[in-house]
Amino acid sequence: MKNMRIEDIEIQVIKKSIKNMYIAVYKADGRVRITAPKRMKDEDIRNFAVSKLGWIKKQRAKYKNLEIEPQKEYVSGESHYFQGRAYLLNVIYTDKKQRVEIHKHQMDLYIREGSTREQRKKVMNEWYRSQLKGEIPKLIEKWEQIMGVKVNSFGVKLMKTKWGTCNIAAKRIWINLELAKRSPRCLEYIVVHEMAHLLERYHNKRFYTYMDQYLPDWKEIKEELKSGGSLA
Ligand SMILES: [Zn+2]
Repeated sequence: MKNMRIEDIEIQVIKKSIKNMYIAVYKADGRVRITAPKRMKDEDIRNFAVSKLGWIKKQRAKYKNLEIEPQKEYVSGESHYFQGRAYLLNVIYTDKKQRVEIHKHQMDLYIREGSTREQRKKVMNEWYRSQLKGEIPKLIEKWEQIMGVKVNSFGVKLMKTKWGTCNIAAKRIWINLELAKRSPRCLEYIVVHEMAHLLERYHNKRFYTYMDQYLPDWKEIKEELKSGGSLA
């Protein structure tokens, strides 16, 4: 498997023992994949892709409308969120450590020259992850004392439909990576919500009584999470 790039579109090429060439645009992320016969030359595959460019763009535009957050390209001038605030992205090429630095209203992304969108996104997400991993233990410690529960471990991952989850038996909570972009009180609300599951498994009256007790304004924060929107 190898990749091909036409304009700003990354195309995955897979060779198989087949007779005809196939092209697909994936709904989830707009990814393009061409499946081609084993002996097909790269040049012919490229020509085929170019001939399909109009169709590819149309499909991707159609799917983009379904997307919750507009696709970021990770280029200078874009706005990116961190802890509920928008920062202007500034891309800086480096051959040293790839990283993100915040300076006032600016987010400096240090990246290899010629890096792809996916590579930039990865550096950003790793940074978001490290930021959350720095914040979450403080919150867990604070709320363990208040709520009288114990969290054995936590993890951060990208989730499509949930802000957090709790494995009650393992006393482990998972926090959605997207929360790095939201205000600190949103993160705290989700941590408290997941920890409340250590007191009550279900979203029942007892559960919400705990929420009212510990975070009286939790409903307002929940609305903030919804309206600011990448997840329902
Ligand atoms: Zn829950």
